[in-house]
Amino acid sequence: MTIRFDGRVAIVTGAGNGLGRAHALGLARRGAKVVVNDFGGARDGTGGSLSPADSVVEEIRKAGGVAMADGADVSNFEQVQAMVDRATKEWGSVDLLCANAGILRDKSFGKMEIADFAKVIDVHLVGTFYCCKAVWDGMRARNYGRIVVTSSSSGLYGNFGQANYGAAKAGMVGLMNVLAEEGRKNDIRVNAIAPTAATRMTEELLQPQVLALMKPEAITPAVEYLLSEDAPTKTIMGAGAGSFTVIRILESEGINLPESEWTPDAVAAHFAEIGEMSKAKTLDGAFHQTQKYVEQAAARMGMKL
Ligand code: NAD
Repeated sequence: MTIRFDGRVAIVTGAGNGLGRAHALGLARRGAKVVVNDFGGARDGTGGSLSPADSVVEEIRKAGGVAMADGADVSNFEQVQAMVDRATKEWGSVDLLCANAGILRDKSFGKMEIADFAKVIDVHLVGTFYCCKAVWDGMRARNYGRIVVTSSSSGLYGNFGQANYGAAKAGMVGLMNVLAEEGRKNDIRVNAIAPTAATRMTEELLQPQVLALMKPEAITPAVEYLLSEDAPTKTIMGAGAGSFTVIRILESEGINLPESEWTPDAVAAHFAEIGEMSKAKTLDGAFHQTQKYVEQAAARMGMKL
């Protein structure tokens, strides 16, 4: 099997450096026309320049690929819409979106300024929403779209000093879950990547021999798979250092208590049983939860639904 993207148009945001650069190069190598978006600022989201995007476009062209640079700030909807319009005018469509742009403003929660929280949410979560929003109608009209949003273990599992970033990255999963449902009937598939790689975001956190194992190119195959025709939908993949995983939110089977036991003491008394995970499952959607609890209540009361 050879996964190719010939005839497809891709936008990769934050593609001037790190992971986005690797994704843009990979997609172009496999035939996609690529919009290399990057606002070109510092790691904390200050400054800006088109040169990182331009140099990735040059690398793609030298390798025989097709690309254009775009300097949109993903947290500005007009600029994002203009980027999507320009790509659509030039190449006819936007079929693939890899929402990858991101910044860091790490601080322990007590010291975190309101502006540091707001800016990180703005670039990661609102910026990803803007990119999805700007490509959505076109994807629906053409009955085809593949979207990958970029989450993080910080949001999925927690990390000291990243309340802003963790909240934004967990928010990606919520966005993915809902867009995957809404995109289903138009063959728009929406997935998330939780990467770990050596980039300017992580270079100070890990030792050189660890960083050497964590090339950004190790993430790209997972992103390419999630952007391919046969991609799954509503799936979080982990990737790093050659490891590839699927990450799921699981819910325990739980227990159903009679109204006489709707007390915190009963919850405390049963907590081990409530949290027993051997029969834990991922639920298909929000209503699956309602259905499960109602069925458990009915079963406890011997009621037929
Ligand atoms: P990076 O700093 O090397 O690349 C991020 C790029 O995004 C930069 O080129 C930057 O200029 C661009 N960018 C930032 N704000 C932008 C904006 N408003 N508009 C357009 N472009 C903007 O970092 P990276 O490690 O390659 O990160 C890529 C993505 O992966 C981010 O979303 C990051 O949160 C996520 N991530 C990375 C790791 C890791 O281990 N490196 C782990 C988890 C998640």
